[in-house]
Amino acid sequence: LNRPSSVIIIGGGIIGCSIAYELIKQGIRTTVVDKGALLSEATTAAAGMLGAQAETHSPGPFYELCKLSQRMYADWTEELEAASGISSQYRSNGIIRAALTEEDEAELQSRLNWMDGAEWLSPAEVRQLEPGVTSQIRGGLHFAQDHQIHPVHLAGALRAALIRYGCVLKEWLPAMELLTGSDGAIIGVRTAEGPLYADQVVLAAGAWSASLVEPLGIQLPMFPVKGQCISVRPRTAANTHTVFVKGCYAVPKLDGTVLIGATQVEAGFDKRAAIEVIGELFQSAVQLLPALAGAELVSTWAGLRPGTPDGLPYLGRLSAASGLAFAAGHYRNGILLGPVTGKAIAGLLMKQPAIIDLAPFTPERVQR
Ligand SMILES: Cc1cc2nc3c(=O)[nH]c(=O)nc-3n(C[C@H](O)[C@H](O)[C@H](O)COP(=O)(O)OP(=O)(O)OC[C@H]3O[C@@H](n4cnc5c(N)ncnc54)[C@H](O)[C@@H]3O)c2cc1C
Repeated sequence: LNRPSSVIIIGGGIIGCSIAYELIKQGIRTTVVDKGALLSEATTAAAGMLGAQAETHSPGPFYELCKLSQRMYADWTEELEAASGISSQYRSNGIIRAALTEEDEAELQSRLNWMDGAEWLSPAEVRQLEPGVTSQIRGGLHFAQDHQIHPVHLAGALRAALIRYGCVLKEWLPAMELLTGSDGAIIGVRTAEGPLYADQVVLAAGAWSASLVEPLGIQLPMFPVKGQCISVRPRTAANTHTVFVKGCYAVPKLDGTVLIGATQVEAGFDKRAAIEVIGELFQSAVQLLPALAGAELVSTWAGLRPGTPDGLPYLGRLSAASGLAFAAGHYRNGILLGPVTGKAIAGLLMKQPAIIDLAPFTPERVQR
């Protein structure tokens, strides 16, 4: 295979768009097709935490992937801002992962055995950093390197940068079927506008990815995990760091709002927001940060995380599907993993030296 001169990316979430961005910068003719508006699904439903430490429960390749992407983020968003004029609202304010129970405390403290960049804080030390936190906490881990962006602003920057570099964006155009050539290689997609052909195709359709390869006899075990969030505007500032406990987090945004998330429900592709759930989530947040009581409700929404049985994304190729690269299943961490996925998958297509070993994430692992 030579380097591709054209690529079609199925799915214009953060994953598809970050791959497109790396390709188009290198002069590859790149087309992104999305069944709806670009960057309108899980990507803009996210909280925007870059939680390499806060979100990882064991050492290993996934933690290394998360840390690499975390290290890329500040430069990546700066570059996007230079290309687009839009700030992603990067904030380096860190995450406090607090314990409310003995069990939480034990789990968090056990991370100190292998996790770098984490510091255990006593309850008094937590309240020194965040005076508004409930007196019920038993201490917590401070992850100073876990930063955040605003997903809606990042989406604006990414979209504008793709347009600036001449990426073809085909919105409201579902990819209906992968097209194969006479040798069985993937050569394009069927759409309502007719077939689209390219040298390479990337599957980055988030929680919807599996259905596109199923007709080829390829199993890609995936399931949507619904997350509901609310945005509120407290009367007085409630927190300056992201404060995270089991089942609830409060992320302070630059515009004075606090994003409260997120539920985890496996209920198929149902994205409806349930009022009871919002009430419970808000109550949990008020217990954690009492200054949130009486806050103004700004908005509420739900999104579908692309889940996989082992919690790892599918990144790479399958011997049974030449011409196709996989970039799906980023579950709770797709915002964090945008830059590393973009560079790693673009590098794979361009036959460049690997920036990280993708073997632990190969989709072959579920074909055996
Ligand atoms: C409530 C919530 C909070 C979250 N918080 C965080 C966080 O703080 N930090 C973090 O790192 N991650 C977070 N995540 C996870 C993160 O949002 C996802 O992992 C990430 O958005 C996945 O990106 P994606 O591009 O794979 O999927 P998506 O953003 O869902 O994009 C997939 C795209 O594919 C398109 N598509 C689907 N089928 C087709 C088709 N047949 N043809 C064409 N297009 C198609 C869809 O329309 C969609 O635009 C959160 C998620 C949720 C729901």
